[in-house]
Amino acid sequence: MNREAKLFIISGPSGVGKTTIAQKLFQEVEGLVGSISCTTRERRGAERDGIDYRFISSGKFQDLIKEGAFLEWAGILESLYGTLRDDIEAQIAAGNDVLLCIDVQGAAQVLKEKPDTVAIFIMPPNIEELRIRLLNRGESEGEIERRIDLAKKEIERVSHYHRVVYNDVLHKAVDLVKSIVYAERQKMV
Ligand code: 5GP
Repeated sequence: MNREAKLFIISGPSGVGKTTIAQKLFQEVEGLVGSISCTTRERRGAERDGIDYRFISSGKFQDLIKEGAFLEWAGILESLYGTLRDDIEAQIAAGNDVLLCIDVQGAAQVLKEKPDTVAIFIMPPNIEELRIRLLNRGESEGEIERRIDLAKKEIERVSHYHRVVYNDVLHKAVDLVKSIVYAERQKMV
């Protein structure tokens, strides 16, 4: 019996470990793929264009908005981020489940258009731990404070999500997200 491919979202504050969790899932869960977001922000460190993000100009991003190319998009701290609709539709049509790592504004847009989407919020153990993780990532003091302020606002939106996973121990958080994906795959309706 064929089942319909599923769309999953993981959101959570910057530095909470969403990307690490998602990467683990892509390696370990067959038939689960991601999407390469477009962004107008500058490339950071070892990031690769077309692999980690599609780094595009603000002009190009605005054109894509006008064309309706984005399933969702959001402005996050001076930069724009968006998920291309065609990418997702192609993966779903191919029978792959898709996991999007997007912010709370983007998640709200996807849930409105595709209410069957399963939305998972990754929660830091506490704000101090989040601050330490951002510091270890090499963010500047000012940037850390901006991201902490944003994190507090994002955490207020947690009730819009179907599942909450605390990332205090990485492998436990990975196992929990994996179990959510597997449980969804067993659903009849
Ligand atoms: P960063 O600049 O640290 O890579 O990402 C900043 C935030 O943008 C993170 O919360 C990340 O999940 C979010 N983000 C990345 N891609 C997208 C996207 O396509 N859409 C939305 N709405 N958020 C995204």
